[in-house]
Amino acid sequence: MKNGVYSLLFLSFCFLAIQVPVAAQQKLDTLLVVRGFCIGAPKPKGVDAFVSFINEELAPRKVNTLILRVDFNYQFESHAELRDSVALSKADVKKLVNACRANKIRIIPQINLLGHQSWASTTHNLLRVYPTFDETPHVKMPVKYEWPNPDNLYCKSYCPLHPGVHPVVFALVDEITEVFETDAFHAGMDEVFYIGDDKCPRCSGRDKAELFAGEVQKIRDHLARSKKELWIWGDRLIDGKTTSIGIWEASFNNTHRAIDMIPKDVVICDWHYERPDQTAVYFAMKGLRVITCPWRQPNVAVVQVDDMLKFRASATKEMKDRYQGMMQTVWSGAEAFLDGFYGRKIDPEAGENTPWNTFRTMYAKINDLDTPPTRKERKAQKKK
Ligand SMILES: [Zn+2]
Repeated sequence: MKNGVYSLLFLSFCFLAIQVPVAAQQKLDTLLVVRGFCIGAPKPKGVDAFVSFINEELAPRKVNTLILRVDFNYQFESHAELRDSVALSKADVKKLVNACRANKIRIIPQINLLGHQSWASTTHNLLRVYPTFDETPHVKMPVKYEWPNPDNLYCKSYCPLHPGVHPVVFALVDEITEVFETDAFHAGMDEVFYIGDDKCPRCSGRDKAELFAGEVQKIRDHLARSKKELWIWGDRLIDGKTTSIGIWEASFNNTHRAIDMIPKDVVICDWHYERPDQTAVYFAMKGLRVITCPWRQPNVAVVQVDDMLKFRASATKEMKDRYQGMMQTVWSGAEAFLDGFYGRKIDPEAGENTPWNTFRTMYAKINDLDTPPTRKERKAQKKK
């Protein structure tokens, strides 16, 4: 009989040991539905190191969403002319996909659509190969790029009303979502300074908010036909002038009114890097799901996590699930980030304010939330 009691106790212990991590994971999922990480996709040589990073760093920190900025770093077959000279093969992508699947991480590829078609003095592949898609062909790329400049050139955009542009970019979108085996696509769409240019024969004189919203709608509709979801950055939907949030993190060219025109099922990645601007509430009140994104200031990220938890906890039932969570953004390629993360390269000027410190700090805080629920919490959960 005694043995029987001990066996029962032992069994109960095993049951609890299994149940607690599951319950803890569920608790974290109710607090922050999306726990994301966004970075430039590795080059082919860096794929194995990045797969190790997924297994050893992302998965243990309970990251559940990985956005990889691919752009032209894939050996596209639909438009081979747009490939980077060194680009990921199908086999490379499958390594990343399999690592994410094994760790229950949703993987979402990004190709910048509309804006970011150049950087500094370099024109990216789409406009280099198809220069007629350029919204501002009269703006010549400088030999030495400087900001500010008389053309107000930050990045080139494609013309959203050019009849040739969507057959090309949608072929890329279809191919990249298929090879990544995913149901979501991130289209970028941040920092679009060139839109509705006065010299564009198709766009001049048109409402810039309508042009921006029209492009969002078009991409969203294309994805929806194969039951895929569109994610974008949120900055063009924030009124820069009224809020003083700045020309990068918000719009000064009147695209912000597009917030009332875009479909409500688009997911907004709301990035704020210097201050924890509480614009998540604005997006949620407009009926959009929103994820708050820090970059390289750990103290900002910590406040943003607290804010997100607070918004979610205090929201109406209707709005609660629009507060989706947090995503660490990294604006280098994977290789440079890993060099910093593993201490192989040190940036003495940055001090503590690095993306890898922010990533560590934010996820330490998030994982602290993941303590097993107390008996009282479990009871409350049962009652629901
Ligand atoms: Zn145009």
